[in-house]
Amino acid sequence: MPRKSLAKHRRIVIKIGSALLVDRKTGLKSAWLDSVCADIADLRAQKIDVLVVSSGAIALGRTVLGLPAGALKLEESQAAAAVGQIALARAWSESLSRDEIVAGQILLTLGDTEERRRYLNARATINQLLKLGAVPIINENDTVATSEIRYGDNDRLAARVATMTGADLLVLLSDIDGLYTAPPHLDPDANFLDTIHSITPEIEAMAGGAASELSRGGMRTKIDAGKIATGAGCAMIIASGKPDHPLKAIEEGARSSWFAPSGTPVTARKTWIAGQLQPAGELMVDEGAEQALSGGKSLLPAGVRTVSGQFSRGDTVAIIGGQGREIARGLVSYDAEEARQITGRKSSEIEAILGYPGRAAMVHRDDLVMTGPNLTKTTKSKIEKGAAHAG
Ligand code: GLU
Repeated sequence: MPRKSLAKHRRIVIKIGSALLVDRKTGLKSAWLDSVCADIADLRAQKIDVLVVSSGAIALGRTVLGLPAGALKLEESQAAAAVGQIALARAWSESLSRDEIVAGQILLTLGDTEERRRYLNARATINQLLKLGAVPIINENDTVATSEIRYGDNDRLAARVATMTGADLLVLLSDIDGLYTAPPHLDPDANFLDTIHSITPEIEAMAGGAASELSRGGMRTKIDAGKIATGAGCAMIIASGKPDHPLKAIEEGARSSWFAPSGTPVTARKTWIAGQLQPAGELMVDEGAEQALSGGKSLLPAGVRTVSGQFSRGDTVAIIGGQGREIARGLVSYDAEEARQITGRKSSEIEAILGYPGRAAMVHRDDLVMTGPNLTKTTKSKIEKGAAHAG
């Protein structure tokens, strides 16, 4: 299967630029939207998770409000987004429902992806939506985002969403079909780049700053998105979204630029967890829990014997087995004090103890990486082999 095939992926984030969705005179391009939704339905029929990062709130809002062309003041774009986002979400919801797909709206601000606690929270909500079979329709919460604390472009937001949800492909649909060595409308000698194995300084230099009134991101933010996504093991495709059925078009070989991932999603994420320099605390677990963890299960409060250290929800903790050795590391779902209160207790008791229905797992398996004997063995043999070569 060609690597640009969407079908071989299991979770895809699709970013849609404003200019594709909104015509400044006539408003929303509903026929085009319907064609995208039909493509999404095809992907989902192949058991692929799809997340959409949809721009267009500001563009649509300013059209509805009849704001003049040109740059908007911050409060004007915030107001435009408030008006446009309602219409945008409704359009997605209606169009997806034609294929009996349920849409869920998620509005994120920069802090939701950059602060770990909020990141975990947003991620849990998005994952839950996917689990329930809905398609998350995501945008920046432009109504409250101020210029200092906003992404401002959905290319990078989409890349963060991709890494946050462990997606293996990010598709950026806009009015350009890929990366060129120079802006093609300015330089007739510009060459198209089909495959980008790594984002080198030369590649970065090819991305000018182009942006139009409708789209905030130019090639610059797309390359930034590429760095975020590929660095976390997620491939990226830049393709034209102009034709109807743009996803099907990629599948059928339409021109696009493919950016190779630099690792696998799981490795990149788990490397990040395993690579935390100083775990903030330790959870001593019993034998049953130790076995469950080796079998790929989550760590439940019932399997924890003692908790040490001071940590907050979302911090990395070391998980210590019977021999007093670290067997795993993970991001803990509770603050240290709460963790102590629910230690050894059943997950069904959490609400009664803490006064709110917390997560069932003390450390969820998605947030957990085994660092103990098994891994040590492989790592050890690698190190020994390396040492032998070096010697
Ligand atoms: N969040 C903005 C909107 O929905 C779009 C940002 C972008 O164009 O990348 O209007």
